[in-house]
Amino acid sequence: MYGAVMTHQPIDNMPRKKWPHLKNGLKLNCPKCGNAPLFTSYLKPIKTCPSCGQDWHNIRAELGPAWAAMTLAAHIIIPIYHFFIFGSGWPNWLQISVLMVLATALCLMILPRMKGLFMGIVWLFRTQDS
Ligand SMILES: [Zn+2]
Repeated sequence: MYGAVMTHQPIDNMPRKKWPHLKNGLKLNCPKCGNAPLFTSYLKPIKTCPSCGQDWHNIRAELGPAWAAMTLAAHIIIPIYHFFIFGSGWPNWLQISVLMVLATALCLMILPRMKGLFMGIVWLFRTQDS
């Protein structure tokens, strides 16, 4: 009736435990082995892992990391914004300055970690040819 049989078996040799690989990506290391840095610069991934040989140059995270970084940073900034509006006596120019610097720093800090995480997700679930 539905034309396809759904199974819960892993595809080819997909690792069963996914969290250690995703955690490696969050730590900015190769999601497959965790023994080598994933990026050569701020957001530029390595071509091939020197430790395990995994090819990373065609694993692209696209816009997912930027979306995740902004979402996480907003969830941290909004309570602080609420405190500034209702709980502090700081002048408006100081509130806005602190929030802008904090939001920028948070996004820049979170973005590479989200890219490592999303590259790990793309690699784990084989959503791109590799
Ligand atoms: Zn590796």
